[in-house]
Amino acid sequence: MFKCLIPIKLFYSSQFYQIYNKFSRNKSLSLLLILISQSQIYYIICHPFNNLFNMYARPLILFNKFFQNINLDLNYDDTQIWSEIFLFLMLAMQLLYILCFVHLYCCYRVKVQKQLQRKHYEPIQYREQQLGIPFTQKEIYSIINLIGVSEFYITFGTKIFKYLFHYPIIQLALRKILTLQFQYTNLNTYQILVLIITYLVFILNIFSYFLNEAHDVQFSFKKIDYLSRFYSNMTKVQSLKIEILIIIVSILDNLEIDQIALLLVDTSLLILIIAISYRHPYYQEKLMNKIQIQSFSLYLCIILCIFIFAEGLNQDFSELILILIPLVFQISNLMFVQQENKTETLSYKNRNFDYLMMNIYKQCEEALGRNGILLNDIKYRLPKNLNLYALSTNHIISCQNVNGCFCSGYKKQNDHFITRQQFKYYIKELIRFHYELKLLSLNKNNSQKYAKSYFYYILYLSKVIKKPTKAFHEIIKLKNNMYTGLNLLDQMFTNSVELLVKDDFLRMIENKSITNQKYDCFKVFNYNKSINEWKEQFWCFAIKVKIMVCDTIKQESYITNN
Ligand SMILES: [Zn+2]
Repeated sequence: MFKCLIPIKLFYSSQFYQIYNKFSRNKSLSLLLILISQSQIYYIICHPFNNLFNMYARPLILFNKFFQNINLDLNYDDTQIWSEIFLFLMLAMQLLYILCFVHLYCCYRVKVQKQLQRKHYEPIQYREQQLGIPFTQKEIYSIINLIGVSEFYITFGTKIFKYLFHYPIIQLALRKILTLQFQYTNLNTYQILVLIITYLVFILNIFSYFLNEAHDVQFSFKKIDYLSRFYSNMTKVQSLKIEILIIIVSILDNLEIDQIALLLVDTSLLILIIAISYRHPYYQEKLMNKIQIQSFSLYLCIILCIFIFAEGLNQDFSELILILIPLVFQISNLMFVQQENKTETLSYKNRNFDYLMMNIYKQCEEALGRNGILLNDIKYRLPKNLNLYALSTNHIISCQNVNGCFCSGYKKQNDHFITRQQFKYYIKELIRFHYELKLLSLNKNNSQKYAKSYFYYILYLSKVIKKPTKAFHEIIKLKNNMYTGLNLLDQMFTNSVELLVKDDFLRMIENKSITNQKYDCFKVFNYNKSINEWKEQFWCFAIKVKIMVCDTIKQESYITNN
């Protein structure tokens, strides 16, 4: 019944992540995008209180006016035309997005079918005559270009669209839906059309949110994309809470209910969001987490000020807010740093295991910098980063297998590591060691649960430890043992991790400085070929010897006969 879904599944599991990650957001682009989306959130949360700002905190009105433009809410003189144009544009962009996927899927099918035919019919000229599709060079180039454009648009649609248009769509679409449904009893054809389009845009927007949540993840310890999410269920909960907050506030704003209710909803949801984001940072990049946490703390501070001073005491709070803003920034920053350095017990069942490992890796990089500083400095710096300190010393103290363990290679003098570079290598190896123990200790039947840790481990081997051969071995093992038991999303991630490892592997082979490994790899790859060549040469040589022997015997018998 679902036979037709198989090629789509194959397309998804083998191609999707590559298309999705065509380009990565660098630091400056990420910074710009997160600032835009955070100011949009600010506008959506705070603009319902414009009249209160007008009375009690006039400077904030200027902020609201500025962020109104960023949120693309341009209905200045209550004309509907802007929101309608905006929603039409968004629908066009969303449909184009789907069309690009369909186009790429079709191209993929054509490619697969061609590969199959190439296997069946040789030689190539014969196949082309049979099918009657001889592509000229120009046609091939135009197809490749079109594929490139589609892939680029999809990456744009998934990686940038969210930060520019996601919140404005929610706000403007909900406003449109609610005003059309409540204010007009008899809708004309145009209004019905607008209503349908708005619903469509809203639903597609929510769909793209879930798509993003599932795929905007990166399993590498090395930063590639600065806005990719750290993988854990709590980060999903966090972003869902933000989504709920935006939707509820947008609905309540249009229902014109009492502002106290709105303030209560804002406060409670913001507290929840802040609590989760301290404990489970959303992004892999620290700076982005800091911006997110600080801006949410700021929104909470403003909302509380409105609550207490405007609604409660009917007092002007313009000056107070100017003092509070830097204070809140500083306090939230301190809390963030404190939370980051909080000691966590290392347990392989800990849900935060991957985060803890990544944190230790980052701390190691930061504490030791790139170039040499004296070991004494590390001694003073380490106690600040308690996780790093605890993890590094615990192993050395409690290691049972003194001679066989990796740590024996990192000999110490007077309880200090010989060089800081040695310490860095030791930490890298220690993280690998803990990952190996974790993966060994877990129940094999429970593969779904620890697949993510496996991905982190494999990419760690390939990108940080720089052992693509071992990573390659691990990914093959994973595919052989667990692949069929994984869900479709994890299968897709497995394939994409495999591609990344393969890239590193090939790069290593091409790297001429690693001559030994290069020799070994090719020996494995070309084993059969070499055996056959050797056999051929051996037979040639044997035949030559045979002819030579025959000739000599003939010559000798000729001489003796004469
Ligand atoms: Zn050891």
